[in-house]
Amino acid sequence: MSNLSYIAQNHGPWSTYLEQIERVTPYLEHLKGYIDTLKRPKRALIVDVPIVMDDGTIQHFEGYRVQHNLSRGPGKGGIRYHPDVDLNEVMALSAWMTIKTAVLNLPFGGAKGGVRVDPRKLSPRELERITRRYTSEISHIIGPQKDIPAPDVGTNPNVMGWIMDTYSSGQGHTVTGVVTGKPIHLGGSLGRIKATGRGVFVTGREVAEKIKLPLKGAKIAVQGFGNVGSEAAYLFAESQSLIVAIQDHTGTIFNPEGIDLAELKIYFETNQGVAGFEGAEMISDEDFWNVEIDILIPAALEGQITIERAQKLTAKLVLEGANGPTYPEADDILIQRGVTVVPDVICNAGGVTVSYFEWVQDMSSYFWSEEEINQRLDKLMVQAINDVWHTSNEKICSLRTAAFILGCERILKARMERGIFPG
Ligand code: NAD
Repeated sequence: MSNLSYIAQNHGPWSTYLEQIERVTPYLEHLKGYIDTLKRPKRALIVDVPIVMDDGTIQHFEGYRVQHNLSRGPGKGGIRYHPDVDLNEVMALSAWMTIKTAVLNLPFGGAKGGVRVDPRKLSPRELERITRRYTSEISHIIGPQKDIPAPDVGTNPNVMGWIMDTYSSGQGHTVTGVVTGKPIHLGGSLGRIKATGRGVFVTGREVAEKIKLPLKGAKIAVQGFGNVGSEAAYLFAESQSLIVAIQDHTGTIFNPEGIDLAELKIYFETNQGVAGFEGAEMISDEDFWNVEIDILIPAALEGQITIERAQKLTAKLVLEGANGPTYPEADDILIQRGVTVVPDVICNAGGVTVSYFEWVQDMSSYFWSEEEINQRLDKLMVQAINDVWHTSNEKICSLRTAAFILGCERILKARMERGIFPG
């Protein structure tokens, strides 16, 4: 067992991840001996990010980049700007990236980064300064062959463009492949922005069919109306599902007849949140979890589905757009109650899959059409969810454990075949 204090932390998302690893271990047969590899990050960097604010004062922010596992290739994972970011969270998010890239069989390891800051409170110039200083502080451990960041909560293509520019300045030449999720004309990929929400839809559609839940008329609640939640909602609405409840950081809206997303989009553009939208009633944030629904899409932050919420949830299907939204004990309750959960490590893997396509396109300086990207994405996601479904039936376990079995087997096989240096 570990003798490092941060690994033993018995709280937060990292402890959720460790519990998931405990649960998969009995299935790993001869690879069990390597499991401790997954219980610690390979490398964790904490950096001080001082910037001059617009008012001339100097403020210090804490930044992180964690490379959890690099056995199968360079690190891959987003950068989060949020006031609650801490080492525990970034470690867990990096570990889920390790599992996710392996479930999709992408040639990457897992990494994640973040800065403990509320980006909504920064001016555009401050946001740029913080991004450039953070990039400079982590630049010795990132790179197209080392570790490739991407957007996550609170970051976007513009932020990725600044990261690419800052890193390139240090190298003396343009390095598009250092980061994915960039603006299109800076080497970004078509389809990347919508890819995670699209992956949530594709895996959800496949599993809904398997459990005989028709999408037409299905009632859906979505938590988070950002990059992931909004795109998933649009695609389900196109399949004639009804989006009856949406919650974001501004509040919760509810309309049992289905929220008009085209109207909401217009409202959202000026109000930057769903609260106050006239086409629905406001309900309390806790009532979001009681609404009569068929499908729940948590697409905001981790640790949202607690034991109490799992007990009252009416959904038959949960699609984890967010990373780590379900506590392990709540997961058990959902299983007992017959609720099918498509776990984050497969459900929201559309983003990293198109990030992989972006990296491949950058490395070959040859770019594909959006149609080609979506076709490739759908093919990989359908293949992966079918493999997970098959493993879950074969081993008689949840989809989460099945996904972890597939992912951990690939990672630990790579670890075993590489051997332990110096031997
Ligand atoms: P985003 O910043 O675009 O949107 C986040 C959404 O969550 C916003 O609508 C915000 O209002 C809402 N939110 C924040 N705090 C909330 C709270 N306390 N209660 C309710 N809603 C709240 O972020 P995103 O890129 O859509 O990411 C959402 C989730 O999906 C995260 O868990 C992220 O790690 C995961 N994810 C994102 C990607 C990607 O490509 N962007 C890929 C894989 C997983």
